[in-house]
Amino acid sequence: MKSATRAGTRSGAATDRCRAILHAAIHSASCKRSILIDGTAAASEASTDPSLAAALRTIGRPPETVDLVVLTHEHADHLGGTALLPRGPTVAAHQLTANKLALGDEFAMVSGVIGEKVAPFAVDICLPEGSVIDVDPYRFEVLHTPGHTSSCICLADPAQDVLIVGDMFMAGGAMGGIFGSGSISDYVLSMERLRRLGLRLVLPGHGRVSREGEADAAVALDRAKVLLRDTRELFQAIIGEVAFDRIMSSVRGLNR
Ligand SMILES: [Zn+2]
Repeated sequence: MKSATRAGTRSGAATDRCRAILHAAIHSASCKRSILIDGTAAASEASTDPSLAAALRTIGRPPETVDLVVLTHEHADHLGGTALLPRGPTVAAHQLTANKLALGDEFAMVSGVIGEKVAPFAVDICLPEGSVIDVDPYRFEVLHTPGHTSSCICLADPAQDVLIVGDMFMAGGAMGGIFGSGSISDYVLSMERLRRLGLRLVLPGHGRVSREGEADAAVALDRAKVLLRDTRELFQAIIGEVAFDRIMSSVRGLNR
């Protein structure tokens, strides 16, 4: 692949809704193929306008050009539309995402909350920490950044000053939240890592693109630290109300 463009940089005609749906699409001009980062929700495909397919056409990357879908994590609003793409694109994700999709883990996928029924889903390529997605002139390194969920990955290209973050944080520093398989402490550590990258252009999974990525990451990190502290205080407050000693004594009893 000799050249590539990120959809967001050439989407002058695209609506904000398009940009929200298209988390990112990377296009190889030389071979007319595209990589889509996250596949949206199938329900939104059917019920919103423009759909994923329409949004892809709007930016000149029709769905039949999508060869590879990279999933940033397992949430249903990021993957259901993948199955609706023609040509059955190759799907890549972290192993921990693959596990949940293979077993149809509805709790982890938050399918019920989103109102999205997702059938068990095969991931073709697992992307561990340090994997590289090379679409010249972009060269994205895969960062495993647990927190929002256990399996979150971000794609970083320091040379192009671009960071694709899924739901780790949004423009303005909004947190993506901590879900079932996630962890506040993992989130704090992952956000410290993302902030240190100092990358300016951030493409989140929801909302607008940010051109102040480092500052937004710092805001999200500060909010996460407050949440971590508040959670600790909440736990300390309820610990007096809950008979933890009875629970722990039953665990200790297992060693007898
Ligand atoms: Zn999510």
